[in-house]
Formats: sequence, structure tokens, C-alpha cells
Amino acid sequence: MEPAGAPPPSCAPAREAEEPPGSPALPAERPRDGEPARKAREEAAAEQSRGRGPAGRAARGGGRRGPEERGARAGRRPRVTVDSSKAKTSLEALKISLRQLRWREFPFGRRLPCDIYWHGVSFHDNYIFSGQVNKFPGMTEMVRKVTLSRAVRTMQDLFPVEYNFYPRSWILPEEFPLFVTEVRMMKESDPSWKPTFIVKPDGGCQGDGIYLIKDPNDVRLAGSLQSRPAVVQEYICKPLLVDKLKFDIRLYVLLKSLEPLEIYIAKDGLSRFCTEPYQEPTLKNLHQVFMHLTNYSLNIHSGNFIHSDNVNTGSKRTFSSILCRLSSRGADVKKVWSDIISLVIKTIIALTPELKVYYQSDIPAGKPGPTCFQILGFDILLMKNLKPMLLEVNANPSMRIEHEQELSPGVFENVPSPVDEEVKVAVIRDTLRLVDPQKKKRKDTQSQTSEHVSETKEDLLDAGPAGGPEYDTSRNAEAGLPSLCLKQVFPKYAKQFNYLRLVDRVAALFIRFLGVKGTTKLGPTGFRTFIRNCKLSNSNFSMASVDILYIDITRRWNSMGIDHKESGMCLQAFVEAFFCLAQKKYKSLPLHEQVASLIDFCEYHLAALDERRLPCGRGVAERRSAAVTGPTDGLEGSPALHAPLLNHTAAAGKFADCRSHRYAGAVSPGAGRD
Ligand code: ADP
Repeated sequence: MEPAGAPPPSCAPAREAEEPPGSPALPAERPRDGEPARKAREEAAAEQSRGRGPAGRAARGGGRRGPEERGARAGRRPRVTVDSSKAKTSLEALKISLRQLRWREFPFGRRLPCDIYWHGVSFHDNYIFSGQVNKFPGMTEMVRKVTLSRAVRTMQDLFPVEYNFYPRSWILPEEFPLFVTEVRMMKESDPSWKPTFIVKPDGGCQGDGIYLIKDPNDVRLAGSLQSRPAVVQEYICKPLLVDKLKFDIRLYVLLKSLEPLEIYIAKDGLSRFCTEPYQEPTLKNLHQVFMHLTNYSLNIHSGNFIHSDNVNTGSKRTFSSILCRLSSRGADVKKVWSDIISLVIKTIIALTPELKVYYQSDIPAGKPGPTCFQILGFDILLMKNLKPMLLEVNANPSMRIEHEQELSPGVFENVPSPVDEEVKVAVIRDTLRLVDPQKKKRKDTQSQTSEHVSETKEDLLDAGPAGGPEYDTSRNAEAGLPSLCLKQVFPKYAKQFNYLRLVDRVAALFIRFLGVKGTTKLGPTGFRTFIRNCKLSNSNFSMASVDILYIDITRRWNSMGIDHKESGMCLQAFVEAFFCLAQKKYKSLPLHEQVASLIDFCEYHLAALDERRLPCGRGVAERRSAAVTGPTDGLEGSPALHAPLLNHTAAAGKFADCRSHRYAGAVSPGAGRD
């Protein structure tokens, strides 16, 4: 923060006057692919450590000193520096936030490293070797419609009840036959079911290319199957209406850290309204986008769109104004809020395994690189019964604080939008306060006071939007700022959700066997080593069968055209293979217990192996054996090794049904494959 008595920050662009003349400028653009980027980062870091790069020069004390350094020498705390050169459309809100925080902005970048890099699009917008960046590698890929649906589907297979906040979805074109068959079967078992489906092209946004259908054999769907991949989803026919209009909620979520997992939710969000009164879908109204799609970018073009400076009215309002309205109608708003928190935590738990694979690829452990945080936009629909349903997650939610206004037909002007400004500036400013590197330094020095999981199980229902004591950070330098609008939900509620993090543990096994640092796919040797080290092979499951399993699953995943940059087994394919092995080994348990048992089994053997490799290490395996008693080697059917994690029996049968189409014969030893 600004030291006492320092002059107010200037709004003028910060100049690079403190830079030593002739310093090499860092390249402005960073290649998309992780490998060259990583190489460049390593080279520059080596350069710096040899004292030739800008940071190295600074470390040697050469060149002219910057104001931060001069300030530090004078005993004042230097201001946090932020590179905003790649902020794109979030620039205006970022500038206001930085002004409020009195941090130092570098709108054209800086040759010395900054504390924070604010990117508008992706982790790869810039070369970064240190500090923090507001994007995670791989996040954009992870929240695409198809990838998100897959990640949630895996969790639905394990925990169908917990993950019923995401509409039933099918991935096209690969699951088209399954979609047709399942819909036919559901209709046969319930003739009164008259579903509608929404088709969303992968990678689309702002309602682009979305349409509704009643029949899986609709010609539009058949026609678009060959073009780009898409998700077809059950349409939520009974949304909650306000003023007879459908609306959705955009909530801002801060993923502050992946390891350990830290999640914050903004106390307020935006509600985006349709501009035609809602009617349940019929063949006649299916095409009426202003009735069915809540996208701002679509509805702004409706003559009925209402711009309002009041957060309680108009086509874009604050979410808190909706909650107030619901509360006055007698709705249980605390329950709505706790359901939303639960939805957000569960969704992030579904995303973290693959994010960790991307992370270790772009920023391998032990190599120089920044740490990451990211603001995500969650789009949520409230059903008539107030149950929140996840529509999608945006890696780059719009942080614009102005909107387009049509002055005369076809002539638009950008005008400030008070509703957007109120919500978005607070989210950016408070994200920065939470990642403040100086606060972190202070915290590290007083390590005892660091945040930890509360020992007592806290009730999500206590988590009302109206903030508790943890918002009160108004100490010392922050005294002039409002209390934080971001509320920590993880690890605060970790105890209620940690049992869901099974795929995270599977991903940890996957990453362990990746071998070469920086890869995202497991080769056949890595897979064999995993099987051997975890003692999963025996006379009933030979290494030849292991190879067949590997080839079968890897080939299918690669044929789905997900990522052809690297060959080998991706995480999702490994997860599928792992589930398959778990089902084979622990036959009679529900899927999540099968998987948990196999994870325990593998972790036990790996801990024992690590212990043997350590010359004097003892005790890890013994300690673990308390949880995993008497491990039987191989994939022979063995009894449940530990008490069930939870009482979620519904998973068992559903998984068998839902996955059977994917694995036909995948692990049958000796099945004839090449
Ligand atoms: P986009 O990224 O193109 O905005 P979304 O998934 O957010 O795609 O869908 C666009 C809009 O369609 C949403 O804002 C919502 O109004 C509507 N919508 C999406 N999925 C559903 C669904 N399953 N049921 C009802 N409405 C939906």
C-alpha cells in the first residue's frame, strides 16, 4: 500500500523512466504452445541469474534505480506494481481498482518484473517468469462447453446426487446415437415427458449458434453434426421468473490457488434478463431468442431492452436486488445462497484435476514461473423451485463497465453502466487485495496466523450473502476501503466437500507417472510403470492385458479429436482406465467406493516404494496400512479394503449403465486387440 504521506497516484500512464537505458525489451507476445514459452522463460531466468537480464542487473545494483527500490531504501514499503498492458476489455475496471488501491500501474508493460500481470484473455498473453498472473494455464480449454460437460460427467458418474445441478448433457457428434437412444428410452418409460433440448456449439459464447429442438431427429441437429462439436442439453423449462421474464445469474468466483485449493465467491453478481415474457417452449416459440436466451449480447438488440441506472430495475440488475425481492416474497434466500456456494465448489472440484495437469506442464515444479489466480464467471439459472443449475463457466467473464447505447438507428455509443461498475470494480479490486504480494510477505513472517481449515464443521447455511467477520480486513492501510466483497468458501467448507476430490487424487497418480516434465499425456511405458509400481497386475491381469487396456482407451480418446499435439493417454483416458480397474478389483461396491479403494491401494504401494527408495525412511507405509489393511496384489477381486467413504449407493448401478457403452470389453484379459 501507499506509504503515509506519499502523493496520490497519477492517472497518467506510468513511464518507464526508471528503466536502465538499452535494457532488452521482453517480447510482447508469447507463443500459445507451452513448450517454447517454457523454454523462453527458462532461458530468461538463466539470463537473470547470470546477472545479464534486467532483474539480474537490478540484483547487482547496476543501472538506474526505480522508484520502488528508492522507496525501499528510504525505508518505505514499495507500491505493488501491476502490468496492465494485456488487460484488454477489463482495463477500465482495473484502472479504477488500482487507483483505489493506490498501486502502480504499468499500462505499456515494464522491463523490470511486475508483481502482478493482468491479462484479458489467457495465461499465455505475455512472457512471465515471476510474480502473479490472473489466468491459469488451460482454464480456457477446461471451461469450453464440451470439456466442462465431460469433467462434470465424470463427477456425475461418481456422485450422481451431488452433481445433479448440471442439466443432462450429451457431447456431439460422438454421443449422438446415445442421445437418441436414451431419449427414446426415457420417453418410453414416461410417456408424459415432453422434453426440449438446447444445442450449444463448443467454444461458442454470447448465445452464438445456440438453438432449441424438441426432437433428437430434428433436421437442424442432423445437419450440424458434421460441422463443429457441440453439447446438447436438456432445456430447463421451468425457470424462476421475475416480472414474467426469464433471467440468469452471473456470479464472480475467484480461484485464488489450485494447490492448496482456495475459492472465493463475490457477494453480489449480475442478473441478466430476457426481453420477451417467458412461455414454456412449444414448437411455435422455440426460435424466440429474446424469450429463451438471457444473453445480454442478444437482448441488447431487442427493442424492449431497458438500460437502468438503478440496480433494482432494467434488463441487467444486481443479483442482490433479486434476492431481496425473493426474500420479501418469503423465499429461503439463505438456502439459495448455500446451494449456490455448493454448486460453485463442486464445479471447481470437477475442474481442478485437469487444471493441475496443465499447470505442471506450463509451470513445472522447481522451474521459474509465476503463480496464478483467476476470476471466473459462473452462469447459473434458478429453477422455479429455486434450485440453482449451472449453465456454464466463463474463463474470461466480461469486465466491461460500460454498455452500448443506440443513439439513433445503427449509431451506438459506449456509456457508463453503474450496475456493471458497482459489481465488477469491487470484484477486481478485492481480488487484488486478496493476492496482494505485500500482504503475503507480511503473512509469511507471521506464519502462525495463516489461514487454516476450521476444526468445527461449518454450516453452509451460515454463509449468507451478507458477510461475516472474515470480511473485516479494514486494518491499517486498507482502512479507507470497503470490506471485501469476496467471501472465502474453500478451504472454509473443505470438510463438507473433500470427499468429492477423488479425481484429484487420480490426477496426482497420473502426474507422478508422466515422467518427462512438461508433458500432459502418459506414454505406454508410464502406464506400465504405474501398473507395476501399484502392484495391479497378476496372473488374471497380465501386462499384455494392461497394454490392451492402454491402447483401447487411448485410441478412443484420441479419435475424439481432443488434442493431437501430443500422443499418449490424456488425463480423462487415464481416469477412465482407473475407473475400469477399480470396478474390476472391487466388484460389489458403488463406483465412488471402488475408486476410493483403488486410490488407497495405489497410494499405499507407492508410499511403500518411496520408503524403500529412501535409505533411512521408515514408517510411511506402516502409517498408511492403518487405512489400507492387508493389500492383496493385483486385480483379483478383493474385499472392500476400508469402510465406505459415504453412503452414496445410488452411484453403483447408474455408473454401470452410463459407462457400459464406453468400455465394452476394455479390460477383458486377452481380448483380441492390436
Ligand atoms: P453462451 O456461452 O453462448 O452464452 P450458455 O450456455 O450460457 O451459452 O447459454 C446461453 C443462454 O441459453 C443462457 O444464458 C440461458 O439463458 C440459456 N440456456 C442455456 N442452457 C440452458 C438450459 N439447459 N436450460 C435453459 N436455458 C438454458
